[in-house]
Amino acid sequence: MKIIKKVSELQKIALKHLVNKDEIGLVPTMGALHEGHISLISKSVKNDDITIVSIFVNPIQFGQNEDYLKYPRPLEKDLAICKKNHVNYVFVPSAEEMFPRANRTRVEVKGLQDLLCGRFRINHFSGVDTVVAKLFNITFADRAYFGMKDFQQLRIIEKMVKDLNFRTKIVPCEIVREKSGLALSSRNFYLNPEEKESAVLISKTLKLAKEEIKVKSFSAAVKNAVKRISSIKNSRIDYVEAVDFNDLSPVSKNTKKAVLAVAVWIGKTRLIDNIIISKIVRE
Ligand code: AMP
Repeated sequence: MKIIKKVSELQKIALKHLVNKDEIGLVPTMGALHEGHISLISKSVKNDDITIVSIFVNPIQFGQNEDYLKYPRPLEKDLAICKKNHVNYVFVPSAEEMFPRANRTRVEVKGLQDLLCGRFRINHFSGVDTVVAKLFNITFADRAYFGMKDFQQLRIIEKMVKDLNFRTKIVPCEIVREKSGLALSSRNFYLNPEEKESAVLISKTLKLAKEEIKVKSFSAAVKNAVKRISSIKNSRIDYVEAVDFNDLSPVSKNTKKAVLAVAVWIGKTRLIDNIIISKIVRE
């Protein structure tokens, strides 16, 4: 496994693989790797000739009062996880390497970037899209793996790829959860035991909503979810919303497949999660 810090070095290596007709897989991450990330890595190792994992805490996707500085960075542990899971290249650029001062370009996916998390994290998705676009150009990836945990991010990246004609195919990956149902997240490291108990109730609420939707309307299921999450100790809701599975548009009575997406603060930690909820179609 090779560790690469420079854009030009990775681009040169990736180009060689491209010319060699090796299929290149990319797993973009911010590190503090857990089983969720490992599931993406394993898929790439299985599908692709070459797997590149990027570990980069991207400064331009964090707001001023967000957790950029305190975001966990256990690099040695992450590298060991990559090695154990047969990664070929780990890309660990510095912030200055990816975004030198002279950098002026930002990618925007209008509309989609303003919904859900975008209402609370201004410029967040533009920061994500810009770094992902750069990674696609640096790695010439045939496939890039994204978790459905960040469902809005997944849909935005898919749209960016379509609109800007990137060659990279996006592979959506299932959410990996703890036995308790809690979605794995690097930000779970911030939670104390009491907060973790609270956080578990978010996924329990989503699971209940998935059952409820079989007999109730989307709006009733959302209303109940809001009620349940509001009553969780230490919780504060940013949003609880059901949106169309394909295009994130608001649900209507004709919507068949939706995503119930939530962003909830537990104490000082902001967690996101979602579940697919489908109406039973009676012929
Ligand atoms: P992050 O390091 O949080 O930016 O995540 C990097 C990638 O891993 C993103 O595509 C995430 O959606 C994905 N990911 C994070 N947590 C999970 C999880 N619990 N299950 C599946 N994918 C995940």
